[in-house]
Order: sequence, then structure tokens, then C-alpha cells
Amino acid sequence: MSDKSKSHGRLSISTSFKPRELVTHNPRLAGVWTARIITLFPDAFPGVLGESLTGKALKDGKWQLETTNLRDFGLTKHRNVDDTPAGGGAGMVLRPDVLGPAIEHTMRGARGNWPLVYLSPRGRRFDQKMARAWSQADGVTMLCGRFEGVDQRVLDHYNIQEVSLGDFVLTGGEIAAQAMIDASVRLLPSVLGNADSIEEESHSNGLLEHPQYTKPAEWQGRKIPDVLMSGHHGNIEKWRREMAEEITKARRPDMWATFKGDKDR
Ligand code: SAH
Repeated sequence: MSDKSKSHGRLSISTSFKPRELVTHNPRLAGVWTARIITLFPDAFPGVLGESLTGKALKDGKWQLETTNLRDFGLTKHRNVDDTPAGGGAGMVLRPDVLGPAIEHTMRGARGNWPLVYLSPRGRRFDQKMARAWSQADGVTMLCGRFEGVDQRVLDHYNIQEVSLGDFVLTGGEIAAQAMIDASVRLLPSVLGNADSIEEESHSNGLLEHPQYTKPAEWQGRKIPDVLMSGHHGNIEKWRREMAEEITKARRPDMWATFKGDKDR
């Protein structure tokens, strides 16, 4: 790998002048789930992924994060990456002759099941199922757009899947990439210690989660529901289940219909 890419995580703090090479060829990190990001803003990474659970796991080498700076593939001495839209109109479009080499550089050595995706408001809406599928892959490469987006031919040529964070428009793909990586990394078996909490949480079993409470037993005149203080595990489980169903029914009729359909089948 050349120094056009940068790695984050345990070995990125190495004083070596090419930490990336160490990471890529370090056998201890071979086979580790890896997110590769193509971006004009590599300094935005690891961002919030460097904190808490995902941050610790990154430092511990339980997953890896590598960025490719799209600017390094820019043309001419100005390193241009974009140009005006064919047919006219506002904004700029990322050029295929810049994106192509950046994608090929970034995908080098990506083996096995390794999705290549473009963060895009036109894409399929990201969900827990996709996070689970990606967490079971060997890694994922994400192309972050900017401006008006990318030249369509790049998406067609590399058969890139478009994935959206939601029905709104962001300035760039970086925030979406971090959200999706966060959701995927926390599902890696080595990362989230308490697997039970994954099974029960919202969107995992088709229901939204029941309400949670903690100490103190009373706050602002509001008490924790008695059943949770009863120590009766059967009743607690039953209550949580009922609450999860109630909340799902009220807030997400679409999820409830799917849940009921699956159960009755
Ligand atoms: N002109 C485009 C929007 C470009 S927004 C359109 O109308 O479809 C600039 C970049 O931000 C995009 O290339 C994409 O990478 C990213 N982006 C914007 N909204 C997003 C969303 N909802 N999910 C994922 N990425 C998004």
C-alpha cells in the first residue's frame, strides 16, 4: 500500500514513517474486519468512532479503519477532483477518472465478502439487517461523495451499491459512513461483550425496545415500575415483552405488521 492511504487504530500511533504498511502486513491484524473509506476529508476519521466502545475496539485491533484521500488522486498540479455537470446545472460532480484509480487503489487486497458501497440519498435505506450483513463480511469499502455527487459511470462500472442513511440530504458521505460503521462494528462478536443486549435491543428482534430505568428508585416523584423492583424474572420478562409490543404498535405500525406477519406464518 502506498502512503496515499492512512490507517487508524492500534498501530497508527507507531512512529514509523509508513504506519499503514505495518498495519496492512501485520499478521496479527490480517483477517480483521476492516472499513476502508474513500473521502476528501480523511481527517474526519475516526471521528466519533474513536470514542467509547468502537474506539477501544479500534485501539485493541479488533477492527481496522483505513482512509484513502481522494485529493491524492486529483488531476493536474491543482489536484482537481471535480468538474461541472454535463448538461449544465448547479454544483460540481466528482470525476470518474479520479474516482476510478482511487477505488482500485482502495480495493486492492480486499478479499472474500467485501461490499463496495456509495453513500447516497438515492440509495437503499440502511438498516439493522444491512449492519448485520456487513459485520459478517470481511470488510466494507465506502465511497463518500461531496458536492452534487459522483459521475454515474463509476457506479455502473464497479457495480457499486448505493446506500442511504435516511431520507434527507447531507453535505457529504462522511457522517453517514461513520453511522453505518458504528452500527456494524458493535455487532462484531469480538466487540460487544454482552451479546444478550444485542438480541433484545430495538430492530434486532423485530420490535422496539422496552423502556429502561436505573437508580434512584424515585426521581421527581416518578417511580420505577414495581414489577422491575420485584425480582421476579418471569414477570419482568413478560412486562418487558408487553411494553416492547405496545411501543412498536404505537410508534411503528409498519414494523408491527411485519412482526405479526412473521409470527403468524
Ligand atoms: N445531488 C445529490 C446529493 C448530493 S449530497 C442528490 O440529490 O442525490 C453530497 C454527498 O453527500 C453525496 O454524494 C453523498 O455521498 C452524501 N449524502 C448526502 N445525503 C446522504 C444520505 N442521506 N445518506 C448517505 N449519504 C448522503
